[in-house]
Amino acid sequence: MSKYYTNEIEKRFFEKVEKTDSCWNWTASTDRTGYGHMSINGQLKLAHRISFCIEHGRESKDKVLHTCDNRRCVNPDHLREGTQKENVMDCIRKKRRYEQNLLFCPHGHPLIKDNIYIHKRKRRCKFCKNKSDKIRRNKPPILNGNNGYGFGNGNGFGFKDGCGYG
Ligand SMILES: [Zn+2]
Ligand SMILES: [Zn+2]
Repeated sequence: MSKYYTNEIEKRFFEKVEKTDSCWNWTASTDRTGYGHMSINGQLKLAHRISFCIEHGRESKDKVLHTCDNRRCVNPDHLREGTQKENVMDCIRKKRRYEQNLLFCPHGHPLIKDNIYIHKRKRRCKFCKNKSDKIRRNKPPILNGNNGYGFGNGNGFGFKDGCGYG
């Protein structure tokens, strides 16, 4: 793995870190929000981001988040890039937008004013709903097999396969 910072900078960094069994606490200055920071080549950098660079040999393209809720912590095991969750959120947003703009249902019926209804905040196809309702209605009722009352299977009163439904 290529080094991101020089040995000298790494040394300077770790001099300010107090390692415990879990968190590595930043002992030098912090910013107003409580995150540790250190100046590198005249630029103030967040300590946990520096730690990320040292660990991964690259700058994080996204936020570096703490999994331990300790803003002073620079333990790379307690840090992760913020991309994954944000990607997922982004996907959900895109999907929602896509669904809102759909012109046809999955079966190709136009999603226009007279053919849409809202179900769980989504636009659904009425035609498909009616169709599936009809199928449901045409299914023989579920019988409990309580033959003593005259509605069990195959006793001449119930519904048998091929009795004209469907
Ligand atoms: Zn920690
Ligand atoms: Zn449809």
